[in-house]
Amino acid sequence: SQRRKEEVSRHQQILDTAHAHYQRGLKASPAAISYLKQRGLSGSIAARFGLGWTGGDRRGLAAVFPHYEDPLLVESGLVIEAEDGRRYDRFRERIMFPIRNTRGNIIGFGGRLIAKGEPKYLNSPETAVFSKGRELYGLWEARAAVRTEGCVLVVEGYMDVVGLAQQGIEHAVATLGTATTPEHVQKLLRLSNKVVFSFDGDKAGRRAAWRALQVCLPLLRDDASIRFLFLPQEHDPDSYVREFGAEAFRASLAEADPLSRFMLDELASHHAMDEAEGRAACVHEAKPLLALMPAGTLRMQIEREFARLVKLTPEELAGMLEAAPETPP
Ligand code: ATP
Ligand code: MN
Ligand code: MN
Ligand code: MN
Repeated sequence: SQRRKEEVSRHQQILDTAHAHYQRGLKASPAAISYLKQRGLSGSIAARFGLGWTGGDRRGLAAVFPHYEDPLLVESGLVIEAEDGRRYDRFRERIMFPIRNTRGNIIGFGGRLIAKGEPKYLNSPETAVFSKGRELYGLWEARAAVRTEGCVLVVEGYMDVVGLAQQGIEHAVATLGTATTPEHVQKLLRLSNKVVFSFDGDKAGRRAAWRALQVCLPLLRDDASIRFLFLPQEHDPDSYVREFGAEAFRASLAEADPLSRFMLDELASHHAMDEAEGRAACVHEAKPLLALMPAGTLRMQIEREFARLVKLTPEELAGMLEAAPETPP
């Protein structure tokens, strides 16, 4: 509607004005520049991603918004209204990462503290133009590389996207500090039929990958390839590519686990597969997951491999999958 269009365009103006302010802030801040340098980022990469710096003032944005009390600033997520009605900037002392939609318009920001403190990262709240569960950081910046690489990489963090791009790996996008959603996966699969998830090598990253797999299952297609790259424990894509270089990262990408292998390995790792009881429990856990997958050759292939894993014939497994769930005693 016309009103919605006007609302979006007023938000747009505010976000663009703030972005320009943050970019000028970065140019004027030796501390922020030196933080980015210390993280291995060049000025041209900072410019390519439109990185900025907030400064430390409680009302830093007042410099570019003389009508600081405008309720639109609160609605845009850039200004917070305290309980006593006083207003102040949401983002302070932070490196700013503009988040763009697929048309390249800024819809929100992520901000990282350069000093120790909590929270390390802060995102824009949900607004009229920004929905975390749908957007992927870096999608707009990555679009050309996704086409030439024929693949899209999904990582956890802003710094992973920017750090990879610094080393010439430009087809990465990040979920915005949230779990992967069906909307994310749909968006990714529209973009490319090859998707590689590369989360942090820690336990949290492994858990995030397992959750992402479950979100992918209903969306599997025989013509799509979804893979999972597991980095060494102590690394994320940014730290890995900085330490070992782009060639090493690309080599490990080439060896990423296909979804089927990750799924079967992970299921097996949850149970004592050398015991009948463990294999039965494994079937019990797998049953609802297998049921999520659309009919197709890939599902048949995975079921066949799973049958072998749990020492059932494919027919026995099919019987088990059709059977009603066991009723508790
Ligand atoms: P860095 O390398 O700058 O320390 P990171 O990206 O490796 O950061 P992680 O702790 O691995 O940081 O978190 C991954 C992502 O999760 C971040 O990029 C951010 O989007 C989100 N995130 C992390 N911590 C928080 C937090 N405290 N609040 C909101 N989002 C967060
Ligand atoms: Mn992490
Ligand atoms: Mn990191
Ligand atoms: Mn990380």
